[in-house]
Amino acid sequence: MSKTSRTAIVTGASRGIGRAIAVALGGGGFNVVINYNSNAEAAQACAELVKQAGGQAVTVQADIAKSEDHRRLVDAAMETFGGIDVLVNNAGVAPKVRADLLETSEDSYDYLLDTNLRGPFFLTQQVAKVMIEKRASDPVFLPVFLPDNGGPRPCIVNITSISAYTASVNRGEYCIAKAGLAMMTQLFAARLAEHGINVYEIRPGIIATDMTGPVKAKYDKLILEEGLLPIKRWGHPEDIARAVLAIAQGALPYSTGQVIDVDGGFHVRRL
Ligand code: NAP
Repeated sequence: MSKTSRTAIVTGASRGIGRAIAVALGGGGFNVVINYNSNAEAAQACAELVKQAGGQAVTVQADIAKSEDHRRLVDAAMETFGGIDVLVNNAGVAPKVRADLLETSEDSYDYLLDTNLRGPFFLTQQVAKVMIEKRASDPVFLPVFLPDNGGPRPCIVNITSISAYTASVNRGEYCIAKAGLAMMTQLFAARLAEHGINVYEIRPGIIATDMTGPVKAKYDKLILEEGLLPIKRWGHPEDIARAVLAIAQGALPYSTGQVIDVDGGFHVRRL
C-alpha cells in the first residue's frame, strides 16, 4: 500500500456519523483506519466505500472503552500506512435505557463514561505521543509563527454533542460524558499546540443514524412541527463529515480548541 498520503484513524466508523467521516476522508485521498466494536460486516462495507471514494482502508476491531485494545489501532495505522496524521474520536454510545437522573444505575454510568470519555482520553494520549514523535523528526516543522508551516498540521477531532451543554435529565450520564469530552478538547489543545498539533470539537445536533432511530417520532415532531431548529431538517452524517474533512485538510490552521457547531442552529438562543 502507498505510504505517501495522509492517514486518519476514525473510531466507530462502521456505521452512522463515523462511516460518513471515513468515506469523506477517503474522498480526500486519506488512508483510513476504520475502527468498529462488534459489526465487522458493516466495517467492511465502509472500507469498500472508502476505496470507491479514492482512499485506502483497513478495518480494525477495538473496543474503545478498553485501553488494552487501543494499541491495535495505532499499530494498524503505523504498519499499514506508516503514520497517523488525524485522529477522529467518534465512537460513542447512548444509554441502553433512558432513565431519570434519580434512577441512573452505576452500570449505565460506567458504560457511558468508559466508552464516551475514558476510552477517547487514553486513546488520544497514545496517539498524541506518536504524533509528537513524528513531528519532532519532521524536517519541515518549525514551532514558530509561520503561516502554513509545512502543510496541514496533524490534528485530533472530538465528536461531542449538543448534550455537552444541554441538560437531558433522562440521560444524564451521556451529557456528563460529552461535557467531559468538550473539556478534554480544551486540555489537549492547550497541551499539544507547542508540538504543532491542533485539536477541535465538533458538536453535532440531531443526526439521522441508528442512535436516534428509537426516538425518531419525537424528533420529527420537534424539528418539523415545533420549530426546535432554525434550519428545519434533521442533520445527516455527511453534514458532520464535511466539517471533519475541512479540518483534516487544514482549513483552520490558526484555530485550536475550537468548537464547531453542526446542529442546524440549535445553539442559537432565540426569543
Ligand atoms: P451509531 O449510528 O450508533 O454508530 C455508532 C458507531 O460507534 C458504530 O460504528 C459502532 O460500532 C461504534 N461503537 C460503539 N461503541 C463502540 C466501542 N465501544 N468501541 C468502538 N466502536 C464503538 O452512532 P452515531 O449516531 O453515528 O454517533 C456517532 C457519534 O456521534 C457518537 O459519539 C455520538 O454520541 C455522537 N453524536 C450523535 C448524534 C446523533 O444525533 N446521532 C448527535 C450528537 C452526537 P459497531 O457497528 O461495531 O457497533
